[in-house]
Amino acid sequence: AGGNRMQIFSDDMRVEVRERIAAENRLREALAGDLTETLPIWWQPIVAADTGLVVGAEALVRMCTPQGDILGPGHFVPAAEETGLIVPLGEHVLRRAVIRLLEWTDHLDYVSVNVSPRQLAEPDFVPMLANLLAAHPALDPSRLVLEITETALLSSSVDVRERLETLKGLGVRIALDDFGTGYSSLTWLQSVPADVVKLDRSFVAGLSADPRKASIIQAVLWLARSLGMSVVAEGVEDPADWHALRELDCPSCQGYLFGKPMPPAAFAAFLQPAANR
Ligand code: C2E
Ligand code: CA
Ligand code: CA
Repeated sequence: AGGNRMQIFSDDMRVEVRERIAAENRLREALAGDLTETLPIWWQPIVAADTGLVVGAEALVRMCTPQGDILGPGHFVPAAEETGLIVPLGEHVLRRAVIRLLEWTDHLDYVSVNVSPRQLAEPDFVPMLANLLAAHPALDPSRLVLEITETALLSSSVDVRERLETLKGLGVRIALDDFGTGYSSLTWLQSVPADVVKLDRSFVAGLSADPRKASIIQAVLWLARSLGMSVVAEGVEDPADWHALRELDCPSCQGYLFGKPMPPAAFAAFLQPAANR
């Protein structure tokens, strides 16, 4: 049995290695192409909970393959992290975010960009962002929000707190992504100078029917408020959950109920009604 197990394990590994190499090659190819075509950014609305009106958008990267398939980040972001290709990929996303912020100034307050642990640890990350902001003096940097996950705190060799302070010095805001799913969420709250908490979907979905979830959210909202942080509830799909979040005075919501991630043209069309507010 031991022998068989070894055989199966090594087959799995071979498949895994082959997939990893394929993912890496696809990514290199995409990064060598016209990035707006090969790695388009899709935009998902973030709304004010009381009115349902758009206040911001999260940038979510996609990959268009030469075969015409559109891949979600799960298919290439992990490979990008491992190979370091997340650095050029992440820079591309930030550049697009700045351009869209300026373009959509009248329609939304902020844009939120995911920053992976590897990107954050990169010594060039802060100078790159500083240069980008300096190149766009018309942009108020507080309109750019960087979303960081707890793994950045755990896995990184650099002093994350110090790095985040430096980033805040540039005027950008920091959000704690997937809040509540990690092992040290309270440490995270205590030690990191964040402006926004993004409450993970696992606490939000089904909240209206689950008093325990409601209690947890209420406590996080209270905690965030006393620390001067805002809150975005992620993964709102059900009108009853939205209603419950409004009752709890949650400031903002994100989820399929308000809009799925959309390509820029569709998102711009989606934003139009907000021009009349
Ligand atoms: P995330 O940062 O937690 O992003 C939210 C994910 O939840 C997105 O998936 C979004 O489409 C999905 N979502 C939003 N509302 C709902 C909802 O109501 N129900 C459900 N079931 N799902 C919802 P997506 O676009 O596939 O992105 C997955 C992850 O990939 C992101 O999770 C983020 O960690 C990562 N990612 C995306 N773009 C980037 C990027 O530019 N850079 C980096 N480093 N990571 C990225
Ligand atoms: Ca995010
Ligand atoms: Ca999230």
